[in-house]
Amino acid sequence: MRFLVKDNYLFPQKGSDSLPISQISTIPQPCINSNFPYNPDLQLLLTGKQLLLDDLPFPLEEIQHHYENGYITYRKGIEYIKNYPVCCRCGNKAENWFASFPCSRCGEVCIYCRKCLMMGRISACTPLIGWNGPTLEHHLPERILEWNGQLSQGQQAASNRVVEAVGNMTELLVWAVCGAGKTEVLFAGIEAALAACKRVCIATPRTDVVLELTPRLKAAFPGITVASLYGGSEDRHLYAPLTIATTHQLLRFYHAFDTVILDEVDAFPYTVEESLQYAAVQARKRDSAMIYLTATPNEKWQRECRTGKRAFTTIPARFHRHPLPVPHFTWCGNWQKQLKKDKLPANVIHWVKERLQNRKQALLFFPHIALMEKALPILRTFAPDIEAVHAEDPNRKEKVQKMRNKTIPLLLTTTILERGVTFPNIDVAVVGAEDDIFTESALVQIAGRAGRSKDFPDGVVTFFHYGKTEAMCKARKQIITMNQEGVKRGLIDL
Ligand SMILES: [Zn+2]
Ligand SMILES: [Zn+2]
Repeated sequence: MRFLVKDNYLFPQKGSDSLPISQISTIPQPCINSNFPYNPDLQLLLTGKQLLLDDLPFPLEEIQHHYENGYITYRKGIEYIKNYPVCCRCGNKAENWFASFPCSRCGEVCIYCRKCLMMGRISACTPLIGWNGPTLEHHLPERILEWNGQLSQGQQAASNRVVEAVGNMTELLVWAVCGAGKTEVLFAGIEAALAACKRVCIATPRTDVVLELTPRLKAAFPGITVASLYGGSEDRHLYAPLTIATTHQLLRFYHAFDTVILDEVDAFPYTVEESLQYAAVQARKRDSAMIYLTATPNEKWQRECRTGKRAFTTIPARFHRHPLPVPHFTWCGNWQKQLKKDKLPANVIHWVKERLQNRKQALLFFPHIALMEKALPILRTFAPDIEAVHAEDPNRKEKVQKMRNKTIPLLLTTTILERGVTFPNIDVAVVGAEDDIFTESALVQIAGRAGRSKDFPDGVVTFFHYGKTEAMCKARKQIITMNQEGVKRGLIDL
């Protein structure tokens, strides 16, 4: 859009005396006119958001009217810093992630950000529209939290730290081993935030997790409106004190939340996509609490924890008070070469046969789809109902369900099942654990699939490899260290 700057106001206007918003040096912000009868629907829609005109089912005149009376802000969608464009919504600065098109809105060849295009186009003439008026009050039920479960000793300690961080508006990393039960650890902190009329957001990289968490949080906080946001969700315009969103959806928020809980901070795509980290920072208010949850912090964060530069708390043991299964390393030679000849290493075959004989279900991880698909027919000669699954597999959900129903004895998988899935009683092996795709955190997660249920707290974890890697050793060490800490803190029964 083009705007004319006049008397410290912006006016949408076409023609040569106006400018695309990115070329206006400072955007004037009119003062609030407290006599102005603002539209409460706009307030609901825009509080804590940064939206495009196309997202708003209101005429431009009405929006402009609210701006002139101080209730709406216009921010630049793209800002030029030293002549280089920066996308203000996703933080993209990389030149190759910008493109240009002949734009009808500003009548110029207009540059736009490709990185966040799926959330609607941000171009050099796009204003990001936000709310500057009074904030909304929450209606609070008498009892906020309706959860009668019991926290483990380890969970309780972490829960107390979360409450503290929420109250003090500080940052905290909750480093909880796979299967420690991290969701319940948040309940008291969320309750404290809601009771103080604060807005809370739980963000996670994966839609699956949003879908899984939503009913659990709705059940725990039955009197609170919960917005569940992911691509295509119906709650898109719902204003809620408690929001559960994919990290992508955070791109629509701006200074919205007093408490942001970021789940699986180490997981794809969060670490990969800098824009999502940027979005998380944009979505929180200046004074706010940030709780990071992970089972596997990256090396930098681990170092910061060790050297006292990052506030953190650990839950080193699972609810059932058994130690985490420690991975065994087994050399299996040049397994890729063998696979090319339609063979698998003898010790891998032996491992599989043993599971089949004992009717113990197992997950077998492979670094790449092609290699896994070569292994499948070989293993099917031992049991025809063995299946393989990967990210693009259209039958992924069905196969995982079959595994849960125990109709599959063995499931071959890529890293897609490294996290988020729980099968009560399984053994786990990795074939080719030396591959780069198996980072320390991926291996800890994979090992974390075993021994999760209290009825079957043990499980064998085997890393078949053609040369030990640093990642393998670090993963093993991380698991052992957590077990030691669990014993020391009295959270594990020996
Ligand atoms: Zn962008
Ligand atoms: Zn334009």
